[in-house]
Amino acid sequence: MDLVIRNTRLIDGTGADPTNRVSVEVTNGTISWIGEETARPQRKAHQEDINGEGLTLIPGMIDCHEHFTGDGGLESMDRLLDDTQEIFTLKAVGNARRALLSGVTSARDVGARYGINILIAKGTASGAIMGPRIIAAGEWLQYPGTWPAGLTRRTETPEELLLAIRDQIDNGAGLIKVGATGFRANGEQFGSLGPEALNVAVRAAHEAGLKIAAHCHGFEGTQQAVEAGIDSIEHGTYTDEETIRLMAQKGTYMIPTMSTWDTRERLGNQYGMPAHQMADTLDRKENSIASFKRALREGVKIAAGTDAGGCPARHGFIARELELMIDAGMSLKAALESATREAANLLGILDEVGTIEVGKQADMVLIDGDPHSDPAALRNVWAVFQGGSRVT
Ligand SMILES: [Zn+2]
Repeated sequence: MDLVIRNTRLIDGTGADPTNRVSVEVTNGTISWIGEETARPQRKAHQEDINGEGLTLIPGMIDCHEHFTGDGGLESMDRLLDDTQEIFTLKAVGNARRALLSGVTSARDVGARYGINILIAKGTASGAIMGPRIIAAGEWLQYPGTWPAGLTRRTETPEELLLAIRDQIDNGAGLIKVGATGFRANGEQFGSLGPEALNVAVRAAHEAGLKIAAHCHGFEGTQQAVEAGIDSIEHGTYTDEETIRLMAQKGTYMIPTMSTWDTRERLGNQYGMPAHQMADTLDRKENSIASFKRALREGVKIAAGTDAGGCPARHGFIARELELMIDAGMSLKAALESATREAANLLGILDEVGTIEVGKQADMVLIDGDPHSDPAALRNVWAVFQGGSRVT
């Protein structure tokens, strides 16, 4: 379907300032013309014609950290561990649809039991189910200490880790996800994989042409992951100046996932949470914000991710993640770019999507209002286009 969106406000994601009264034409799913409405060549036949007055057109958003097999809520981890494979597969179908309708046209799924996220990624790619373009990690990979054992593919030596990575690649994974930090029973943080296993993992992923993401909450493991050449630090709750400077130097991305502590705090206050869990949540909140501010100051690349499904956050609320990053000091423009151009760069799909430019795939969202003056407007999704097809 060919289409034109006329006279809209355009935030193209390239870093340019917003422009008004712009028209965008799409031909065969590709953005084919952008300019002032008065300069637009003659209208074509059979072209869907959308009046964009009062609306803002932004690139389709990208959530770099989701788990489609989980619904969120305070019981999220119990459900991830206890749901049958059939049930969490069906949940993932609904959650992929939810994310897409909220304006998320691409996403990473960074861990699912039995690697079911790869099936979901194939499902959306084939058109069998509705959802974003998904790059899926397959199973979460860890040494003991990061996540509950039943959740993940647990390994204990570099050789076992390498085998597990090769299994994900054989199964069709689009990236590799490892846990690099853990907590001992007494609450002490430690680097769970350590330098040797991290180096093996980074080399194996990169040799296969894949990016590798590391779950990092503690200081030691985060530093080890950055030194080993991990592409993105997920959460990055506890960092020091030295590690942040190294991230800036090496171009390592941070995915702050602030929705994790935000939803836990909100739901914990409403539905009750043991005092020690609330204290832990507030400690993570404080450190996550401090770490984020440090990353901003030093110019670390930041991409948006909600951890929806892997924590109490639900799918469909990437707008909240952007609000949290803005509250912590990021400019509105940079926050929007962290969920579009920067995220596309991390996923390796920037030549196809992530900005609204002629020649790119028409993954775009029409917002009712102006997110540039009010980020809450991002919740008012009026239309979503995926490869030029309108999905809502
Ligand atoms: Zn996660």
